[in-house]
Amino acid sequence: MRTNERPMSQQDFLNSVQHFIDTATRHLDLPEGLAERIAQCNSTYSVRFGVKLRGRIYSFEGWRSVHSEHIEPVKGGIRYAPDSDQEEVEALASLMSLKCALVNVPFGGSKGALRINPADWSEDELEKITRRFTQELARRDLIHPGRNVPAPDMGTGEREMAWMADEYRRIGSSDAMNQNACVTGKPVARGGIEGRVEATGRGLQYAVRSYLAHPQTAPVNGKKSLKDMTVVVQGFGNVGYHAAKFLAEDGARIVGIVEHDQAIFDENGLDIEAVAQHRATTGSVGGFAGAQTVPSAEGLTHMAADILIPAAKENAITAENCEEVHYHLIVEAANGPVTAQAEDCLNRRGIVVLPDLYVNAGGVVVSYFEWVKNITHLPFGLMDKRQKISSGTAVVSALEEIAGRPLQERQRAEIARETGEIDVVRSGLEEIMVRAFDDIMRSKSELKDATLRTAAYAVTISRIAEYYRAIGL
Ligand code: GLU
Repeated sequence: MRTNERPMSQQDFLNSVQHFIDTATRHLDLPEGLAERIAQCNSTYSVRFGVKLRGRIYSFEGWRSVHSEHIEPVKGGIRYAPDSDQEEVEALASLMSLKCALVNVPFGGSKGALRINPADWSEDELEKITRRFTQELARRDLIHPGRNVPAPDMGTGEREMAWMADEYRRIGSSDAMNQNACVTGKPVARGGIEGRVEATGRGLQYAVRSYLAHPQTAPVNGKKSLKDMTVVVQGFGNVGYHAAKFLAEDGARIVGIVEHDQAIFDENGLDIEAVAQHRATTGSVGGFAGAQTVPSAEGLTHMAADILIPAAKENAITAENCEEVHYHLIVEAANGPVTAQAEDCLNRRGIVVLPDLYVNAGGVVVSYFEWVKNITHLPFGLMDKRQKISSGTAVVSALEEIAGRPLQERQRAEIARETGEIDVVRSGLEEIMVRAFDDIMRSKSELKDATLRTAAYAVTISRIAEYYRAIGL
C-alpha cells in the first residue's frame, strides 16, 4: 500500500457505510426519513475505567454501540485494538444490523471495542481488564442473553468470551437459566459450538462457491472454478488463515499472504499449514522458505492475482491505491476494507467486489446457532442422530439387496454416516449463504446497474424497513 497523504480515519469508514446505505436507498421506495433512521446508530455507550495493574492504576476506554433494536437481542463482536474509536464502532454496529438482516438471522446490530493493544499485556492482566469491562457492560444490559450478545472480533477470541461469560455468571443475571447465552464464540467446553472458530472462513468459502456457481455472475479472469485460481490474502489471523485454507482445499493457489509486518509470495502456491507453523515459531510470515518476502506496504500491489481477500481491517483499498491493485475479484473478509471512493474506481476498472456484509456473515450465523443451542439447552443433532444412522443403514441394506452385492465401504460411509454437531453447523451455514446469494442476485437483476454491494444493501435495507413498518415506525 502506498502511504496516503492523509491517513484514512474511522470517520471515512463510517462515511463509506453511510454512502453505501444512501446509494442503495436511492433504488428503494422508503417512507421519508426511514433511510436516515436506518443509517444512524441508536446509541453508543462510552466508558472509561481503571484497573490496578503492575502496582498502579491504568485507564482504559471502550465503547458498545447499538445500531438498531428492531429485533432483540442485538449482536456483534467486541474488538481489542489500539486505534479503535467511536466512529469505527458505530460503522461496525451498522454493518452488523445489515449483515444479520441479509442472512435472516434474528438479531439487531451492535458492536464494541476496547482501545488496547493486547500484545502489551500478559494473559492475567488481559483477564482482569476483560472482567472489568464486562462489569461495565453488564451494568447497562450491554451484555445480556436477551438484549445484547457480544462475540469475538479482532484481538479477541474464545478465551475472552469465556472470561466474559464467567464474569457475567458471577455478577448474577436476571435471566439465570440462559446466562450462558450472554456471549457467543465461547470454547466448546464452556457452552460454545463446534465450527464457530472456522465459521467466517467457512462462510467465505461458501460465498465464493455461490458466486462461481451462479449462472449470472461474471467469470473471474475467464474462470468459473476455483481450480488453479490464484489468490492473495491480506491478514493471516483467524479469518484470513481459514479462508486461505478452505480455498486451497477447493483447488485455489494461495500465491501471497500480506501481513502487517511483512508479505510473502510464491506463484507456485504457499502451503498454508506450513506458513502458519512458520509464523507460530518465528512470529512472522516473513522469511518463509521458498517464498519471496517483501515489505508489507508493497503487499497489495506486488503481484497480480485472480482474487484478493482483504481479511485485515477497514480502509485497505482506498482512492490512493485502487489504481495499483491487479485482481479480478475482491472478496471482503474484513469489515469495510474497500472504501466508497475505491469501490467506484474498482467498478470502473471492471474489478468485482463481493461485499463484506455477505462474505463475512458466517461468524454471526454460527453465533446464532450457538445462541440457539444455549437457550434450548440441547446440542444440535442429538435427538435424531440414532434415527438417521438406522435409516441410513436400512438404505444401504436395500441397495445391497437390489444390487445383489455389498456396496463399497466409501459408499456405505456416505449413506450411513454418523453426523455430529460440526456437520449440522456447516450444513446450516451453507444453506444460509447459498440463499443469501440468491437473494442478492435477484435484487441485482431487479435494480438498474447495481453492484453486488448495492444489491445486497437493497435486500437488507428493505428487510429492516419492513420490520420498522410492522412496528409502526
Ligand atoms: N465479530 C463478528 C462480525 O463482525 C462476529 C459477530 C458475532 O458473532 O456476533 O461479524
